[in-house]
Amino acid sequence: MKALRDLLFVLFPRFCAGCKKPLYTHEHVICTFCLMRLPRAKLTNTADNALERLFWGTAAPEMVTAFLKMSRKGMVHHCIHALKYNRRPEVGRKLGILFGEELRTSQRWPAIDLIVPVPLHPAKEKERGYNQSLHIAMGISESLRIPVSANLLTKRRYTHTQTKKSRSQRRDNVDNVFHINRNKLPPGCTSILLVDDVITTGATLEACILLLKKNTSCKIYAAALAVPTK
Ligand SMILES: [Zn+2]
Repeated sequence: MKALRDLLFVLFPRFCAGCKKPLYTHEHVICTFCLMRLPRAKLTNTADNALERLFWGTAAPEMVTAFLKMSRKGMVHHCIHALKYNRRPEVGRKLGILFGEELRTSQRWPAIDLIVPVPLHPAKEKERGYNQSLHIAMGISESLRIPVSANLLTKRRYTHTQTKKSRSQRRDNVDNVFHINRNKLPPGCTSILLVDDVITTGATLEACILLLKKNTSCKIYAAALAVPTK
């Protein structure tokens, strides 16, 4: 049996998404050492945290949080890179489960009815093979035991990177980009958790929150897997 495992490892090597070292047989996706050192953003239980302040006077969702702090070339950076560019959707699911545990055990966050991932443009999703935010959402769903809707929101217009634009340019850039399929909203749904991979300017989440608020009477919450450290 061990010989078979060794042979399988040679044929299909398994590496930690955080530190890129080989995984032991009992480890999955991320090694024990990295899991113990996950740099948590510690925002979930903080009222008026920095991410919530980002939306004051604009979309003003009920609550906003992020799970991990992402530094340049750090462990979380490697995980996000593997999730987005190396066809490792299981990284999103694994970290999503842990994020869901943080939300589930939070004294501050209430029970929520539905999880909605920020959609990708269909061309982008085809190129990547999947929507990474959907896999994070599925992980969170596993911990919170609430459903995910992958088609309540869709993305219609292709947008380019936001980071070099001003705040108003970023808003114009995401205006009318997303579309809501109102018939996909489950009856009786009163609260939605919007899920994204990384929160930077907040413009993408803002556009989705405004669209959901305009077209539903649900309370909107937002959660990103990672927030870059300055
Ligand atoms: Zn590791």
